[in-house]
Amino acid sequence: MTSTSSPSQTQLRGIAAAPGQVAAPAWRWDEPRVLESAADLTGETGINRLHIAIREVKGALATKASGLESSGAVAEAGILQAQALMLDDPALLDGASSLIRKGRPADAAVGETMAPFAEMLRASDDEVFRARAADVEDVVEQVRRALHGVSDMPPPPAKPSIVVARDLAPSQTAGLDRTLVVGFATEQGTATAHTAILARALGLPAVVGIAGLVDAVADGQVILLDGDRGTLVIDPPAEALAHVAGPMRLVADAAPAVTTDGRRIEVGCNAANLEDAHRGAAAGADGIGLLRSEFLFLGSDRLPTEAQQVAMLEQVMAAMAPRPVILRTLDVGADKPLPALPQPVEANPALGVRGLRLQLLRRPELLMDQLRAALRIATRHPLRLMFPMVSTIDEVHQVKRLLEKARLELNASPRMEVGIMVEVPSAAVTADALAKEVDFFSLGTNDLTQYLFAADRTNPDLAALADSLHPALLRLIDHVVRSAHRKHRWVGVCGEMASDLRAVPLLIGLGVDELSVHPPMVARIKATVRGLDVGECARVATAALRLDSGAAVRRLVEHSVSKT
Ligand code: PEP
Ligand code: MG
Repeated sequence: MTSTSSPSQTQLRGIAAAPGQVAAPAWRWDEPRVLESAADLTGETGINRLHIAIREVKGALATKASGLESSGAVAEAGILQAQALMLDDPALLDGASSLIRKGRPADAAVGETMAPFAEMLRASDDEVFRARAADVEDVVEQVRRALHGVSDMPPPPAKPSIVVARDLAPSQTAGLDRTLVVGFATEQGTATAHTAILARALGLPAVVGIAGLVDAVADGQVILLDGDRGTLVIDPPAEALAHVAGPMRLVADAAPAVTTDGRRIEVGCNAANLEDAHRGAAAGADGIGLLRSEFLFLGSDRLPTEAQQVAMLEQVMAAMAPRPVILRTLDVGADKPLPALPQPVEANPALGVRGLRLQLLRRPELLMDQLRAALRIATRHPLRLMFPMVSTIDEVHQVKRLLEKARLELNASPRMEVGIMVEVPSAAVTADALAKEVDFFSLGTNDLTQYLFAADRTNPDLAALADSLHPALLRLIDHVVRSAHRKHRWVGVCGEMASDLRAVPLLIGLGVDELSVHPPMVARIKATVRGLDVGECARVATAALRLDSGAAVRRLVEHSVSKT
C-alpha cells in the first residue's frame, strides 16, 4: 500500500474494511509480549492452570459474544461462539495435558496441540478454512495470555480515540469499548477477515493492511480515518476535518433521496438478520434491497421448516413495515458454507454448486419451502423475491416453473415482483433476454467483479485487480441497465459498490434506479444522491466508460463530481 505526504500531512493507504469517516487522536496499542514460560506451568500445576485458563477464556468469549448480540450483531457473535466451541474439544485438553506430562510447559503445550490444526486450515484452498486458521491462532493466544495473566485486550483509552495497532484479533475487536474507541487502523488484515466483518457489524470505521502504520503514527496524534476510501491522514488540515463531526452515527433520514434535477433513487439497506432490518429502518432506509436469507438457516444444525421461515420473515417485515423487502433465496456454497447443509468438497467452490445451482441441482425441495414461505408472506406484505447466482435463462425458466407449482399448491397468487441477481457475467451479457422474464435486476457487484476479473473476492492479493470502478465492470453495468430499461424493468445494485461514495455518481449516471447499502450508510448515501445532478452524472459515466483503468475513473470522479 502506498503513502503520500505534503509538508503538513501524511496520508497512508490501506484496505477499506468498514465504512465511515472519523477523526480523533490515535491511541496506539502495542500488544504486550507474553513472558517466557514460568516454572509453575509444568506438571500437574500446569494442567490445573490450563483448566482454569480455558474456563476464563470461555467466559470472556461468552461475555463478548453477548455484547455483540445486544448491539445487534447476532450473526457475528457466532464467530466468538465458534471459538468457545474449539475450547470444548476434548482433543485440546487431552493433547495438551499429555504434552505437559512429558515436560512441556502449559503455554507451549496448548500452542503445539493446536498448531497442526491451524496449519491444516491455513494450507486449505478454501478462504473460509484459511480464515478459521486465524481464529484458531487467536484462541491459542487468548489461552496463553490467560496462563500468564496478561490481558489480551487493549485497555480503554482515556478519551474518544482511534486504535492504531499492528493487528487486532476478532475477539479483541469484539471487546473494544465502543464508547471510547471510534475506529481502528491496523498494519495487517484483509477486508474479508473476521476482524473486518465485526467492524462493519459494529459500525466502527476501519482501515486495515496499512504498511508502516505503527512506525508512522505517534500516540495522541490526530488522525483522520476514512473507512470508505481506505486512507488514514496524520495531522489532517482543519479544512479536511470540516465534514467530519466525530464518530459516525446512525442518522434517521426517512425523506426520499431525490437528485437536484428531480430523479428519485430508492436507497434500501442490505440485511443479514433481523437486527440489520431494525438498524436499516431506524436509519430511514426505503426498504430492504437484499435480505440475505442465509440467516434463516444459520445457528442450527437443522434446516428450518416452511412455518419457521414464515415466522422469521414476519418479524423482518414488521421491522421494515410498510416498506418493501427483497428476499433473496438461499445463497450458500463457496464463501458461504452452511453447517446444516454440508456439501462435497469441490476443486473450485466459487465456480461450483452454489447459490441457486445448489437448490436446482440437489435440493429443489428446499427451494420449494422458500417459495411457499415467500408466497405466504407476500399475501400480507410488500415482499419481492430474488434469485442469486443465475447464469442462464434456463435456470430462470426452471425457478418460474417451481414458483408456479408453489402458487398452485397454496392456491395463492399474491402480487409479488420476481427478480434475479445479476452477478455472473453470462447473465449480464444476456440481460436483454433475461429482462423479458423478470420484473427487476439487482447487480451483485461483489460476485460480478470477482467473476469478471477472474479474481477470488476473498484473496487480498487480488483486491486491486477486482476493482469495481474499472471500466470493464462499468461497461457491463451500462449494458445491463440499458437492456433492462428497454423492457421497462428497474435495476438495483446490492453489492458493496452501492455503499461506495465514489461509485454512486457513476451508478446514477448509468441509470441505476435503486441502491441497497449497509444500514449505517443509508443517511450518507441519501445525502450524496441529493447533491447529484443526473445529467452531470451521465456525462461523467459516459466519459468513464471510455477510460482504460479504475484509477483513471477514480480521478475523473474526484475531479468532476461536486462533493456533498
Ligand atoms: C454480491 O455478490 O454482490 C452480493 C450482493 O451478494 P453476496 O455478497 O452475498 O454474494
Ligand atoms: Mg453474490
